[in-house]
Amino acid sequence: MIVVLLGPPGAGKGTQARRIEDKMGLVQLSTGDMLRAAVAARTEVGRAAQAIMEAGELVPDATMVRMISERIEAPDCAKGCLLDGFPRTYAQAAALDRMLTDKGLVLDRVIEMKVDDAILVERITGRFACATCGEGYHGRYRRPKVEGVCDNCGGAAFDRRADDTAETVAARLAAYNTETAPLLVYYAEAGTLASVDAMAPIAEVGEAIDALLDRAG
Ligand code: ADP
Ligand code: AMP
Repeated sequence: MIVVLLGPPGAGKGTQARRIEDKMGLVQLSTGDMLRAAVAARTEVGRAAQAIMEAGELVPDATMVRMISERIEAPDCAKGCLLDGFPRTYAQAAALDRMLTDKGLVLDRVIEMKVDDAILVERITGRFACATCGEGYHGRYRRPKVEGVCDNCGGAAFDRRADDTAETVAARLAAYNTETAPLLVYYAEAGTLASVDAMAPIAEVGEAIDALLDRAG
């Protein structure tokens, strides 16, 4: 099954993608995580993307399409994948359609995670993640069960993203509204779009997504 999670930064895409990955064996493909790994490794792509990401702007389509088309070929994606943060533009959506058609695959579901813009600053500035396994947390909405210890791997070091500041949220949201939100119409017309209320607590959002995936699968 191929699923896209679509929503603004901080909507909860990564949180739900990791949960679905564990539950359904679909591999999470987060282009944000891939880019952060490239920045950390100081690859050519990472060096070119770093300033763009810190400004909250979008990395060029050609880079992103190449990154996803290489990753989607890997054997671990054979059972399907969950795209988190891709596509973000029409050009990326069209490239994804071509990529899947070439492989004889279809995009089963696009799930819009609907949130009010007003809550995104709090979601984003409260976010942190385990430095070892990447499990995501929030200072108010999802604290580790034992203070200072990752629920998933027991790690004791946590990171905050360089772009998770109140200042970048406006730029990231503007990029979402101008470049990415029009894809909602594109996927509605294709008949693959469904929406969930992503303002609800994490567990409830998860149940709504599971119900949609059960119907698609
Ligand atoms: P995205 O991947 O869409 O940018 P995340 O999954 O990283 O968003 O979620 C952003 C922050 O909000 C994280 O700190 C996460 O723990 C928290 N979060 C995610 N979903 C919810 C929710 N439904 N209610 C409250 N907080 C949430
Ligand atoms: P994310 O982790 O999804 O919030 O992405 C972090 C940043 O990486 C974004 O603000 C963009 O600068 C960049 N990025 C991630 N995915 C894409 C994409 N599909 N297209 C363009 N830029 C992207």
